[in-house]
Amino acid sequence: MSAIILDGKATAKTIKAELAQQVIALKEKGKTPGLGTLLVGDDPGSHSYVSGKHRDCSEVGVHSIRIDLPQNASKADVFSAIRDLNDAKDVTGYIIQLPLPFGFDTNQILELIDPDKDADGLHPINLGRLVLATGEPMSSPVPCTPAGIVELLSRYGVNLKGAEVAIVGRGVTVGRPLGLLLTKKGIDSTVTLLHSGSKDIEHSIRRADIVVSAIGVPHFIKPEWIKPGAAVLDVGITRVETESGAKLLGDVDPKVIDIAGYLSPNPGGVGPMTRAMLVRNVVEAASRN
Ligand code: NAP
Repeated sequence: MSAIILDGKATAKTIKAELAQQVIALKEKGKTPGLGTLLVGDDPGSHSYVSGKHRDCSEVGVHSIRIDLPQNASKADVFSAIRDLNDAKDVTGYIIQLPLPFGFDTNQILELIDPDKDADGLHPINLGRLVLATGEPMSSPVPCTPAGIVELLSRYGVNLKGAEVAIVGRGVTVGRPLGLLLTKKGIDSTVTLLHSGSKDIEHSIRRADIVVSAIGVPHFIKPEWIKPGAAVLDVGITRVETESGAKLLGDVDPKVIDIAGYLSPNPGGVGPMTRAMLVRNVVEAASRN
């Protein structure tokens, strides 16, 4: 039997409709959520991601401001744009689109964001708050992709309590914070965090109730590794050039659909959820202000 599709596109649409109602209520109280984006350079993928974020905002009534700097922008230009976004009264949250061009120290730049305006939840203070909040609900922004993964699983009723979760990839935007989120009291999953130094990835995946792959290696996760009925979330993206143009490939072998109980496809799964969680972070920041 074919897996139930964890439809991130449809779920994100529902979440955005809910957020639009919250935005109306906030505006009635005189609070208008606003997203700022800072994009440095001319990477076409990054331009398209940023445009998508502004489209999402306009759909839910969130005001948005876009700052684009050229590929040859200096550190001083970037610092000055960050100062402007930190000071802007109409920006309740903002993101710096990653990756930054070669030569920028990403961690140094992210630390300059006002933590209360950190819409991606990647400022060290907010990552630290995620570490510290073992039991209580989060009152600070959570990284968008992990939040989107947990939200997608929850909305489809996939059991997280006591579930064995294999996360492949220990990147800061997905794997590491996802492990922290899933092991919070109340969510109560048991997590194995795998990476390129792990000795036996297949062994850990075979016993997992939920598999999340965020590595960017096309079709790395094989159908024979999947426990029948498990939930599989394909997060990693690789751009490959083919004779008929560029194609995006996920980390999960398409045949996994015949074994898994649930499958979050790529595209159409975690990507739209990530964007919806960004808007949620901006709306929540406005309501906290
Ligand atoms: P990252 O920081 O580069 O992390 C990649 C991780 O993959 C690293 O931990 C690396 O291990 C691990 N890895 C690479 N090859 C491996 C292999 N053969 N076996 C085991 N582990 C391997 O990247 P990221 O920011 O976390 O993103 C991960 C992927 O998710 C990327 O493809 C990215 O485009 C995608 N992504 C998708 C979304 C979405 O919304 N769909 C959002 C964010 C990211 P080491 O640490 O040992 O090197």
